Amino acid sequence: MALRLARAAGGGGTASIGAAAAAAPPTPLGADPSPPTPAALEAVLVASRAAAFARLSCKLRTIPASTSEARALFGLDPLHLADLALRDAARAGALAPDWATSAAARGAAYHQLERYADAEAAFLDALELDPGHAGAAAGLRAAVAAAGGSALARPFRRSGAAAAAGPALAPSPASAPLDDAECVICSRLLYEPVTTPCGHSFCRRCLARAADHAASPGAGVGRPGSGSGSTRCPMCRSVMHLAGGDAPVSVVLAALLERSFPAETAARAAEEAAAAASAPAAADGAGSDRGGNKAGGGSPPAVAAPSSPPRQEEGEGGVADVAPHPPPPVPAGGADLGGGPPVPLFVMSTLLPGEHMALNIFEPRYRLLVRRVMSGSRRFGMATLAPRTPVSTDPHAIHPVATECEILECQPQPDGRFYLEVVGRRRFRVGEAWEVDGYRVASPRYFADAPPPSPGASAATASLASQVEALAEAWVDRVRAAAAARGDGRVLDLLARAGAKPAPGDAEALSFWVANLVPAGGDRAPLAAETDTAARLARQLEDLRRLGTPGAAGCCVM
Ligand SMILES: [Zn+2]
Ligand SMILES: [Zn+2]
Repeated sequence: MALRLARAAGGGGTASIGAAAAAAPPTPLGADPSPPTPAALEAVLVASRAAAFARLSCKLRTIPASTSEARALFGLDPLHLADLALRDAARAGALAPDWATSAAARGAAYHQLERYADAEAAFLDALELDPGHAGAAAGLRAAVAAAGGSALARPFRRSGAAAAAGPALAPSPASAPLDDAECVICSRLLYEPVTTPCGHSFCRRCLARAADHAASPGAGVGRPGSGSGSTRCPMCRSVMHLAGGDAPVSVVLAALLERSFPAETAARAAEEAAAAASAPAAADGAGSDRGGNKAGGGSPPAVAAPSSPPRQEEGEGGVADVAPHPPPPVPAGGADLGGGPPVPLFVMSTLLPGEHMALNIFEPRYRLLVRRVMSGSRRFGMATLAPRTPVSTDPHAIHPVATECEILECQPQPDGRFYLEVVGRRRFRVGEAWEVDGYRVASPRYFADAPPPSPGASAATASLASQVEALAEAWVDRVRAAAAARGDGRVLDLLARAGAKPAPGDAEALSFWVANLVPAGGDRAPLAAETDTAARLARQLEDLRRLGTPGAAGCCVM
């Protein structure tokens, strides 16, 4: 019975992860002819359950986004399952400490938690207990591959001299900076250190450049999953979604570095200042090419080149990375606001800038997405599927325009779901897109409405905006009064969806505020793609005038 359970738990694993608990019969039971003890039986049971959780976690990540978009899945997200697997594996280890399979189950759980170094150590423990454990051997290979090669998976090793110098941050003015204070990307003293959710620190600029570089055109061509390098920690390869160059600097770490290495920090600051002084020209060059394919060269910003940049972008794709989708045709026009690090996509509906939306996140892949962005940028892209046209018949193509939204409030539910309140921030064109663990990720190109072509046009837009604003405010007052008279709270909720009125003078923001207040009905995707403020305002003026006729108010809030 116990043996059959153990075999069932790991049987026929496609990925080596699932096979962790397979193979070797548990030593507490195998060689012993006497009946199994309750503790041994429980060890087998919980190790089997750990393996099952780990396999399910692994399996969920391999389901393509298009499958989930066709029919939503329910259930726990992969990290939640991996947590349960780890708990069971730890219990099995406590019950049967010398059983290789419990250590292998722990390794499989760590792998799914993306703690590849811990996974490696657990699989090595298992192999020490049972050198012939096939599941542990396969698991070890998978963990090393996922970490992009063993060197990156391990914590920094200090050089002999540095190790002899004692505690990591002990002042040692005569020696070179300790390895622990170095950025793994540029191999120099950390400057403006940013710490990732997984706990690793890099220079802010290095981290942003690692993301930009991996997301540049061609980085993923022909190498399935390679694009996802940009969404992984350069050190430990765990998936993360960070804001770009505006990621917050780790204040305490920066202060410690400055105190410990004052001369080196000053030298680094001078270097960065010099690099920044020569950067604008290159940045302008990169920003001026708009629409269609970005410049083929994709040259990184003109900061000093790292001496030996790690090539982790080209390492193994990880657990479940899927080949990138071909970039959809990107409509041109508008003002180019530049690119940024890859953005995970929530495929549901069109969200306009300024629009507030409440979301109930129940799908495993999106629970995973929310967990990741909540420990990083708190931002993701709201996208829709593209309509099928004679040109594009791909039913899974993403609409070329999406909106970055920010999570204002996140309430985790006891069952693992999330209630979110999000607000649309800025629109972007979807460049290259690929999948990470069952959801889509895209490299964004942010844009805004085109600036008015002349001072005259600018004045006309401003006058249009003030007319629209007056009519919209009058309309809101009427709707609010009518709702209050009826005691209808829902209308007020719907009005709140548009958020506060934007600051005066921003005609584009005003036009989106009105668009969110007064839904025009129909497909809103073209509204998000439009880049002509005046045209949008002119349509709204017409709509509002029509609504101004008696009897029409109120019915259009829905
Ligand atoms: Zn660096
Ligand atoms: Zn990391």
